[in-house]
Amino acid sequence: MALFGKMDNLGADQPGNQDKKKEITDLEKARVLIIGSGPAGYTAAIYAARANLKPMLYEGLQPGGQLTTTTEVENYPGYPEGISGPEMMEDFKKQAERFGTDVRFGMATDADLSKRPFRVTIDDNKIIEADALIIATGATAKYLGLEDEKKYAGSGVSACATCDGFFYRGKDVAVVGGGDTACEESIYLAGLANKVYMIVRRDVLRASKVMQNRVFNTPNIEILWEHQTKGLYGDGVVEGAVLVKKKGTPEEEEVKIKIDGFFLAIGHKPNSDIFRNYLETDQVGYIKTIPGTTRTNVPGVFACGDVQDSVYRQAVTAAGTGCMAAIDAERWLTENS
Ligand code: FAD
Ligand code: NAP
Repeated sequence: MALFGKMDNLGADQPGNQDKKKEITDLEKARVLIIGSGPAGYTAAIYAARANLKPMLYEGLQPGGQLTTTTEVENYPGYPEGISGPEMMEDFKKQAERFGTDVRFGMATDADLSKRPFRVTIDDNKIIEADALIIATGATAKYLGLEDEKKYAGSGVSACATCDGFFYRGKDVAVVGGGDTACEESIYLAGLANKVYMIVRRDVLRASKVMQNRVFNTPNIEILWEHQTKGLYGDGVVEGAVLVKKKGTPEEEEVKIKIDGFFLAIGHKPNSDIFRNYLETDQVGYIKTIPGTTRTNVPGVFACGDVQDSVYRQAVTAAGTGCMAAIDAERWLTENS
């Protein structure tokens, strides 16, 4: 169950500082450099290490990735009783280290992918030259920025219906947002919960027509048009939300709804900023990969996990593409060394 998503954009990377870059003299070489320590990064590391590529992995500001903000993971195969997110990620790390991955604490702050070897700056004070680069920097769910989202972290607030919906079987929940994700999450939750409120700030949905129709045809979804969230209430856990209807108009009024779960679905931000000068991304910033592979438009640079996946965003799919990235990198190195 979600403790809390990364409201402070913990995983987000910052564009590098060109002046500092010029001063950097500390330089190391890596055959395979992996950026990110979520399920994608560690799985890539396990496969790369077992292929004797001696990968170097930088963990970033959130060692273990998004799952370290979760209590119980119940949908990762192999754990019939479920497992806590931090514990699971500690196991991933141990497995990667067991085969010789050089795991380091540090943040990639800049990158030059214009020529090989690729140059990635760490913490603005060190450069790693890598023959192959695997990007596994994840994506960050957006939150509204309310104090109550922090207060009820893990106690009713979530940014992942697929992850946490199961805990709200037969209960009443709300989903914030009017895009395709909000529609998809609402429909998913409607199959589990008693009632789903969609809190939509405008009088239209941004979602595609087909998704809108699915929502309109789901009897236990009620759309609260032109509503915005003011706060949450409850004794230790979420018991309801305070909304403002038609904010800033003469008809403005405060509305309370009783809910057990409050789901954010207002978008994600992929942590791809420092690579965007070189790599093709979609409009949101998800790194584009050649379908069926983890190859990017730059040969020798591979992307896996949530940073290249706007659709599934699950631990098991991140791990799956992490495996693919290591195999793609290994084959590419063999062909290009
Ligand atoms: P992430 O886990 O996001 O990891 C990204 C890594 O990159 C982090 O280690 C970060 O520090 C690092 N990083 C980012 N930028 C940089 C940088 N510039 N330099 C160095 N490192 C960097 N999925 C499930 O399957 N089941 C669940 O139950 C489940 N529950 C969830 C609960 C919550 C609250 C959240 C937020 C997500 C949940 N998910 C769940 C989704 C799952 O966590 C993600 O799909 C998965 O973690 C993505 O893995 P990843 O390796 O791509 O990226
Ligand atoms: P999105 O399309 O950007 O929609 C975000 C929604 O959240 C919008 O309705 C927006 O309202 C609302 N929102 C944003 N900030 C808010 C705030 N502070 N308070 C209240 N509401 C807020 O994001 P998405 O739904 O995650 O979709 C991202 C992309 O993935 C889209 O291209 C989408 O088509 C695609 N996608 C496709 C599918 C599918 O086809 N099955 C599924 C999921 C996602 P406004 O409309 O008022 O701006």
